Amino acid sequence: MAVTSRRVVLESRPVGAPKPTDFAVVEAPVAPVGDGEILTRTIYLSLDPYMRGRISGVKSYAKGVDPGELMVGGTVGEVLESRHPAFKAGDIVQGYDGWQTHNVSKAVGVRKLDPGQAPISTALGVLGMPGMTAYVGLLDIGQPKPGETIVVSAASGAVGAVVGQIAKLKGCRTVGIAGGPDKCAYVEKELGFDACIDYKRGGADVVAALQAACPKGVDVYFENVGGDVLASVLKVINPFARIPLCGLVSQYNATDMPAGPNWGVLLVNRVLVKGFIVSDHLDRMPAFLNDVGQWVREGKIKYREDIVEGLENAPTAFIGLLQGKNFGKLIVKVGEDRTRR
Ligand code: NDP
Repeated sequence: MAVTSRRVVLESRPVGAPKPTDFAVVEAPVAPVGDGEILTRTIYLSLDPYMRGRISGVKSYAKGVDPGELMVGGTVGEVLESRHPAFKAGDIVQGYDGWQTHNVSKAVGVRKLDPGQAPISTALGVLGMPGMTAYVGLLDIGQPKPGETIVVSAASGAVGAVVGQIAKLKGCRTVGIAGGPDKCAYVEKELGFDACIDYKRGGADVVAALQAACPKGVDVYFENVGGDVLASVLKVINPFARIPLCGLVSQYNATDMPAGPNWGVLLVNRVLVKGFIVSDHLDRMPAFLNDVGQWVREGKIKYREDIVEGLENAPTAFIGLLQGKNFGKLIVKVGEDRTRR
C-alpha cells in the first residue's frame, strides 16, 4: 500500500531552550514493506527529556539527530502490514518509530503489547522506559531498606512518581521534590508520598523543608534534576547514602556548564554516586514488567499521563517538558487509539 508519513524533523540545532522554529513538519513517502519488515501507524509518541541531548550535537551515549533528520522517540503503534514472522496486521506494538505518523522498519527492539493487560499508552510511561528507569535505578543502585528515607526530584513526573511509590512499597519514608503547589499536592495526596517540597520556594527554604521532612537525614537521593536542588539535598545527606544519578534536567538547556557538586560532602559521608542509562539494563525488563505490572493492576502504583493531541504539537510540548509545563508522563496522541473504549 502507498503511504505517506508526516514527520517532524530537526530544522536547526537549538542554542539554549529549543524554539518551535528549530523543528519542521514535512511529508515523505514510506518505502514498500520488504521481507522481514513491518509497516506501522503511530498511535502514541513519547516525549522525554533525553531528546534534548540528542539534538545538542554533543557526543553522548547514543547517536544524535542532525539537522534535516527525523526526531527520534519511542512509540506505540498498530501494525498495518507485516512481512515479519513475529507480527501480523492489527498487532499493537511498542517500538522506536520517532516523531512520525507511519514507518517501515525491521522491527528491531519492537515488542507486542496486550491491550487487555493495561492501556497501551502505559508502554511509554509507567510500564515502559521511564518506569523501568525508576525500578532499576532505585532497586539496583539505591538499594532502599525498610525505615530508610528516600528523596526523589521531578517527583510528579514519569520516573519520579514510580520511584517514590516503589520506595513506599519497600517500607521507606518517601519525600518528593517538585515544581509548584499543584504538583506537590498530587505527589502527597494521590501518590501517597510522606511529603513533597516545592523547590520553587528556593534556597534556604528548600533546605529547611528538607530538614523538616527528613528528620533522620537522606539515605537515598534519586537524582533527576541537578543544580540547586542537588546542592540542597547534599546538605541533608547521610553517611553511606546512595545517589542513583539518573538525570540532570535543570541543565539540559544550559549554554555554560554549571559548577559541580560539593565533592567534600560526598567524601566525608562515603556516599555512592552512580550514573546509569536504562538501556544498559534490559536484562531487568522481565522482572520490571512482572513487578510493576502487578503493582499497577493492584492499584498500588498510580500514574498520570499528560496527553497532547496531534503530531504538529510535539515541538511545543517538548519545549514545555524542559520547563516543567507537563504534569505526568508526556505523550503525544498521533493517531486514533481503537483499543480505548
Ligand atoms: P518528567 O515527566 O519528570 O518531566 C520533566 C520534569 O523535569 C518537568 O516536569 C519538571 O518538573 C522538571 N524540570 C524541568 N526543568 C527543570 C528545571 N530547570 N529544574 C528542575 N526541574 C525541572 O520527565 P521524566 O520523568 O521522563 O525524566 C526525569 C529525569 O529522568 C530526567 O532528568 C531524564 O533525563 C531522566 N531519565 C534518565 C534515564 C536514564 O536512563 N538515565 C531514562 C529516563 C529518564 P517540575 O515541574 O517538578 O520541576
